[in-house]
Amino acid sequence: MKLIDSLVTQAAGIAAVRRDLHAHPELCFQEVRTADVVAAKLTEWGIPIHRGLGTTGVVAIVKNGSSPRAVGLRADMDALPVTELNTFAHASQHAGKMHACGHDGHTSMLLAAAQHLAKHRNFDGTVYLIFQPAEEGGGGAREMIKEGLFEQFPMEAVFGMHNWPGMKAGQFAVSPGPAMASSNEFAITIRGKGGHAALPHTGIDPVPIACEMVQAFQTIITRNKKPTDAGVISVTMIHAGEANNVIPDSCELKGTVRTFTLEVLDLIEARMKKIAEHLCAAHEAECEFRFHRNYPPTINTAAEANFARRVMAEIVGAENVLVQEPAMTAEDFAFMLQAKPGAYAFIGNGDGSHRDMHHGGGPCMLHNASYDFNDDLIPLGATCWVQLAEQFLQGPKAPEGTAA
Ligand SMILES: [Zn+2]
Ligand SMILES: [Zn+2]
Repeated sequence: MKLIDSLVTQAAGIAAVRRDLHAHPELCFQEVRTADVVAAKLTEWGIPIHRGLGTTGVVAIVKNGSSPRAVGLRADMDALPVTELNTFAHASQHAGKMHACGHDGHTSMLLAAAQHLAKHRNFDGTVYLIFQPAEEGGGGAREMIKEGLFEQFPMEAVFGMHNWPGMKAGQFAVSPGPAMASSNEFAITIRGKGGHAALPHTGIDPVPIACEMVQAFQTIITRNKKPTDAGVISVTMIHAGEANNVIPDSCELKGTVRTFTLEVLDLIEARMKKIAEHLCAAHEAECEFRFHRNYPPTINTAAEANFARRVMAEIVGAENVLVQEPAMTAEDFAFMLQAKPGAYAFIGNGDGSHRDMHHGGGPCMLHNASYDFNDDLIPLGATCWVQLAEQFLQGPKAPEGTAA
């Protein structure tokens, strides 16, 4: 493994920052202390920063030479509403909040890269280091873009990285095409007519309509979309009724839809709406159908994903740069990839054996209360960031208009 020496030397100091962030987790758009820590470190290293984009976002600007070229590197800063089961020294000090997705580690890897890039300046151009809020459902990336991220800091491409438990530490995965799915929510209200459960003919029972609807939705997956296209419909909540002997007035269904393309998403949404409304009509009930598109699919552009693979192979060897199997989870870096070419990569977090004594009894998996980020990744992830930035700025510029 070819790590950058100075990143190995400074790793312990950055790991201490990571553990401090882990002990003080903050939820979506509340990353005030975290942004303060990030800003203080960057300022200590003499790096100009811009604060407050998307509420708590921080952008560090590391410039060198005269080239107008620029590239963006992004980390997320927010924690999750999870009660940590680990009781080691750096466990969360805030009940009900936890860095269970490793964003403390992502922030730290990018800080380490910022420190190195500012000190060594072995490039010609500008590296923008983006520390974003609210990845976990808040769409912090979307908010930063809305507030002018790419106008204020024009960059040719943007890269993101997430730790991936179960993949070995020392391995990366990134591939062209979909990395993660679009995430969408629906809520359907079936309005029937309540009445005595022993006299069903006097009312319109919404419960059997809901049951038919759940079954019918699955035919969209098996009969309407192409079998080779990925898509998930999960009805995760059905709420109706209060008594054994009363037919309820209404029934509410909620759930999530995941797809890798907007075409499949359009199809699923349209078919769900039609099935819901027509099933209700067939039973003389009323239907209220709501569908909300939360995060779009995270799609890596081919040139940037393949470029990242080459850079990673130089660091860990080609055999340790895996094909990225697309995941049906979602990621708000998708918004950045809708605006700019780029790639979202995974960095192996290992099997959990890195965890300190007194970790929780659960697995070291994302969003698990026994999870912890693997500090060994700090010099590796930071080496990858530095190499990506330096080599991107040296490489050929993509012709105007080819990126999308
Ligand atoms: Zn997460
Ligand atoms: Zn995450």
